[in-house]
Amino acid sequence: MAAEIIDGKQISADIRAELTEEVKKMQSEHGVTPGLAVVLVGEDPASQVYVNNKEKACLEIGFKSIKHVLPAETTEAELLALVDTLNKQEDVHGLLVQLPLPGHIDEDRVILAIDPDKDVDGFHPISLGRLAIGVPGFVSCTPAGVIELLKRSGTELEGANAVVVGRSNNVGKPAALLLLGENCTVTICHSRTRDLGAVTRGADVLVAAVGVPELIKGDMVKEGATVIDVGIHRTDNGLVGDVDFEAASKVARAITPVPGGVGPMTIAMLMKNTLKAAEIWCQVAGS
Ligand code: NAP
Repeated sequence: MAAEIIDGKQISADIRAELTEEVKKMQSEHGVTPGLAVVLVGEDPASQVYVNNKEKACLEIGFKSIKHVLPAETTEAELLALVDTLNKQEDVHGLLVQLPLPGHIDEDRVILAIDPDKDVDGFHPISLGRLAIGVPGFVSCTPAGVIELLKRSGTELEGANAVVVGRSNNVGKPAALLLLGENCTVTICHSRTRDLGAVTRGADVLVAAVGVPELIKGDMVKEGATVIDVGIHRTDNGLVGDVDFEAASKVARAITPVPGGVGPMTIAMLMKNTLKAAEIWCQVAGS
């Protein structure tokens, strides 16, 4: 039987519609409009598209969008000064600096400079630390989207065997921590894992965040599993993920497509984080 397709586009649209209502409520109850500041340094075309999409999503939902576009020659000190200003700016509840940054700027130093209570990308070590010890904080948007897809597709997580292939700080590790928080039994695989298929075949929930096109074959998927494919690759045959979709969808219970699976969730979760940041601000300000 063919797997159920987990429609990330629809789920993302549902989340954005929910957020639109919540913004109206926040405005009427607290007189506050969530504000997201995005800083772009340089003219990387992909980054320009991402930043424009974030701005568009903000405006559609009813957030305030604050965009700073700086020239590629901007010094690290100038960027840090802007981050400091935005950290203190009252109408900025969420703040992110679009990565990658030009080579002369230390990305880690810039991420560290962001106020953790505005860190809607969830890249600050304090955000990752909060996730690791299970206290509230911002979770990076792609792994947060993975969990949202699992929950909204009715996947049973309690006690499930979850395997995450990939251990990056932005995707694999936070996804594994989130699954642990949902009471899954979690295994993390990486490039040194011996016999990857033997591990993935034990997964009730399989998350592929590898960056290798179609690495996960059909015979590496357990019958009835839920498969979330984070990968995205442009090939001669169009966009593909880290999973061989055609083969895996014959075995899985449910699976995300590429495109239209995890991809659309990332901005939705950024918007969700921004609303959360505004809620924190309302609590702190007592408004
Ligand atoms: P990354 O930083 O390159 O990490 C890849 C991970 O996969 C590493 O932990 C690596 O292991 C592991 N790996 C590589 N080859 C492997 C193999 N043959 N067997 C097992 N593990 C292997 O990538 P990332 O940033 O996590 O992203 C992963 C994928 O998701 C990419 O395709 C990326 O484009 C995509 N992505 C999509 C979105 C979205 O919004 N849809 C967002 C972010 C990323 P080691 O640690 O041992 O090197």
